[in-house]
Amino acid sequence: MTSERCRYAPTPSGPAHPGTLLAGLLCWLDARSRGAHLLLRLEDVDRERCSPEFADEMRAALHWLGMDWDAEAVQSHRHASHVTALDHLAHQGLLYPCDCSRNEVRRAGVRAADGGWRYPGTCRERPLPAAGWRTCQQALRLRLPGATVAVQDEGHRSLCQEPLADLGDPVVRRRDGSIAYHLAVVMDDGSDSITRVVRGHDLAPATAIHRALQQALDLPTPNYRHHLLLLEESGGKFAKFHGAVGWRELRSHASAERVTGVLAHAAGLLETPEDATPAALLAAFDWARVERRDQVMRWESGVLSLVGPGPPAQRAPERSED
Ligand code: GLU
Repeated sequence: MTSERCRYAPTPSGPAHPGTLLAGLLCWLDARSRGAHLLLRLEDVDRERCSPEFADEMRAALHWLGMDWDAEAVQSHRHASHVTALDHLAHQGLLYPCDCSRNEVRRAGVRAADGGWRYPGTCRERPLPAAGWRTCQQALRLRLPGATVAVQDEGHRSLCQEPLADLGDPVVRRRDGSIAYHLAVVMDDGSDSITRVVRGHDLAPATAIHRALQQALDLPTPNYRHHLLLLEESGGKFAKFHGAVGWRELRSHASAERVTGVLAHAAGLLETPEDATPAALLAAFDWARVERRDQVMRWESGVLSLVGPGPPAQRAPERSED
């Protein structure tokens, strides 16, 4: 094994879908082809949307397809380290309270590079209360640097370099006290000594926020590689919208080898959707062979199939942040 450390970090907020399975397959192939350590990290800080049942289903689905991992972590167990990070950020004057609603942010009318709405900075000059951030009833946002943040993608996808201008200050702690994605993911990649991050390109714009947080928290920056997404025919992410299929239903209609073959074909790793296993795909795995364009999938009458390449992305599909 090399000293490289990779992670697959799904959010167990719903049934495991083909999109999440493809992301898992690409992480697994990347890690195993390098002899790297692979961590499965279940990113469940959004307690309202996530559940242990979905986490169990995620593990079962990955095992069913023939993947393994070397260690496992559950993000909600890391609350103490996330709180320490908030202390560090507050100490540097980088946090401020914000009670703008989503509607207020949307009404400002500026699209962000991640497909959401750019926070217009309404509360940016507000100080934290003298009694400290813990006494805040509002959400807490991070004051991003106005400067350029140098960040690269191994596959040469274009990433935001000016997170304040392109995305706006992100929420790092929600109004309900839970830790938001950007802070949790950066702290956990640091705690887990992750050296490689492989994930869908809908998260590519967020990388600039992650780099800014790593700088503020004195954490190393892993190498990033962002990959294609599976889309449904009307253009949304296949994993989330109408048309996607959950793992249990998938399993009742097709073998693991058939599903792996269809996913590998969609990703450009097989010429035809023939039956395959992750282990059998390993020998010839090379990122140069992985399709860069998003691929449209169809689930019809119990059959998962590839429709073809999706349109060039105008904007990353929308993610919910706060
Ligand atoms: N948990 C995130 C998701 O499922 C991925 C986080 C990451 O890879 O940085 O979308």
